[in-house]
Amino acid sequence: MATSARRAGTPVLAHALSAAERGLAVIPLSPRKLPALRSPHRADPAHPPCHGECGRFGHGVHDASADPARVRALFAAAPWATGYGIACGLPPHHLIGVDLDTKPGTDSPAALRALAARHGFTVPETVVVLTPSGGRHLWLTGPPDVAVPNSASRLAPGIDIRGAGGYLVGPGSRGTRGTYATARGTAHLRPAPCPPALLALLLPPPPR
Ligand SMILES: [Zn+2]
Repeated sequence: MATSARRAGTPVLAHALSAAERGLAVIPLSPRKLPALRSPHRADPAHPPCHGECGRFGHGVHDASADPARVRALFAAAPWATGYGIACGLPPHHLIGVDLDTKPGTDSPAALRALAARHGFTVPETVVVLTPSGGRHLWLTGPPDVAVPNSASRLAPGIDIRGAGGYLVGPGSRGTRGTYATARGTAHLRPAPCPPALLALLLPPPPR
């Protein structure tokens, strides 16, 4: 962990700053894994759509930044944050999160292995984050010119995809059910490129 992170005021800020140092844009999250800062326009339903153009915080994943000064400012504005979200789909990594859930009656890791066998790809060695409920998040990178959409159980039951506009709960975050942590031996890996055959499954079908 770099000096700036060690000097951070709270443990979660230190983790968020470490992610930012890797080029990952982050936002503070509440214990319920939701953006910790509420919309400054929530009392004004007639306010035109704003993704942060107003200059204030509270625009969900649009607040995300890898700039340490902005990350500190975000967390100073949300001292109740216990976690952080990593925005997917942004440069330089164009992160894609493969969220292998543990829903009763589903075996999402087996479903991913079956997809890999059927479509001829190998799930690469990459950063894996273990969730408090026993799930796993695989971090992959995408090409800069494609926007991978978010999806829930579209690929297979229990496999959710975090793409453009989505976020992943970062390692070191605390939620109501426990702490997120990197799987042993994966913390310092570079997120691996998404295999092309898997990427093809994540993209919407071309318009007819
Ligand atoms: Zn705004």
